[in-house]
Amino acid sequence: MTAALRFDPIRLPPECEKLRKEVRAFLADEIAAGTFDPHKPNREDTDAPEFSRRVGARGWLGMTWPKKYGGHERSFLERYVVTEEMRVANAPTRRFFVADRQSGPVLLKYAPEHIKMDILPRICRGEVCFAIGMSEPNSGSDLFAAKTKATRTDGGWLINGTKIWTSSAHIADYMIAIFRTSPPTKENRRHGLTQFLVDMKTPGIKVNPIGQITGQFEFNEVVFTDAFMPDDHVLGEIDGAWKQATSELAYERSGPERFLETYYVLTELVRAVGSKPDTRSAEGIGRLVAQLHTMRRMSVSVAGMLQAGKEPVVEAPERSRWSKPRSSRTSAPSGSSNCHTGCAIWRRSSMPMRRTTKRWKISCRLRSRPRPS
Ligand SMILES: Cc1cc2nc3c(=O)[nH]c(=O)nc-3n(C[C@H](O)[C@H](O)[C@H](O)COP(=O)(O)OP(=O)(O)OC[C@H]3O[C@@H](n4cnc5c(N)ncnc54)[C@H](O)[C@@H]3O)c2cc1C
Repeated sequence: MTAALRFDPIRLPPECEKLRKEVRAFLADEIAAGTFDPHKPNREDTDAPEFSRRVGARGWLGMTWPKKYGGHERSFLERYVVTEEMRVANAPTRRFFVADRQSGPVLLKYAPEHIKMDILPRICRGEVCFAIGMSEPNSGSDLFAAKTKATRTDGGWLINGTKIWTSSAHIADYMIAIFRTSPPTKENRRHGLTQFLVDMKTPGIKVNPIGQITGQFEFNEVVFTDAFMPDDHVLGEIDGAWKQATSELAYERSGPERFLETYYVLTELVRAVGSKPDTRSAEGIGRLVAQLHTMRRMSVSVAGMLQAGKEPVVEAPERSRWSKPRSSRTSAPSGSSNCHTGCAIWRRSSMPMRRTTKRWKISCRLRSRPRPS
């Protein structure tokens, strides 16, 4: 199959540069107040609820959402700038970024009105944390092999099964999860999954943190035993979560956070190498900066697509794939949730600006030079 991708060049408008200055000033104040240290990598399990509320108070959560739900009706490009500045500064965004980036948009699209009126304003105030319940012990990249079952009962559904690698489940108020409501059909193995809003306080949900070798606890196993989900917590079409989950993943993969999570490694490398690098170091840094620049152009372009009301379900994962080590970039199946495997730009040796294979035809239209920002 040949997929023609298009990344139109986008220039960030003047209001974005004004906003960038405001965000930088806010972050400088937070750093001065000791909220976080931009030179130290954020511990993956850093939770900063008060910082989250202050970001909400500045109007930087739910930026693109309707005002009636607490949003600010600003552009995806403005939101892009806020995300970019937060990431480059190593700000502790864990509590709010999933809710702001993808759970809120899913609720906006599929939740009943009373749930939108209840939860969306709280996301905008930086008060709630969301987790993503997709991966299961035997269903990672192959998301649509998910087995955690939702069975009909009076007034709702009973959930049984296990999710795994669920980031932030230990601090989350809600999870948006996919559960199996019917078996897959012979014709369509993507059939039979349904998306649910899960209140993490529901009896029958047990969160088991998964310790990492670093001593951090970021992701979890989440076990459901007859956990009751009311009917109004079904999001969208019963048995039809495939399309919803892929468009949710487009939000997940469209932002700059994936490749900027490791930006500090590049700045530290530049600092360590010093002002008079040898030829190999200079060439290596130049290559990394060129790759970073390319990813940024693609990412801004995807933000432009979101602003234009498009769903970049192909371009966003492709941009995300480019932020992975080259060895893992070749055969990610469409609809895969395997997008958390790091953004180790420094591990790659080269990245072509234009690549054409039998499976992929990528046309990056990088026609104009970027504005410095
Ligand atoms: C830090 C972190 C946070 C995460 N947070 C969440 C979360 O909040 N919620 C959530 O649901 N999940 C989360 N995940 C899980 C993640 O998104 C993936 O689902 C999971 O890492 C992949 O599943 P797996 O580990 O079973 O690997 P597998 O699916 O078994 O894949 C193993 C390897 O095989 C490759 N592979 C798999 N299928 C194919 C194929 N068809 N063709 C070629 N190669 C293939 C993969 O690329 C990978 O290299 C997180 C993961 C990490 C590392």
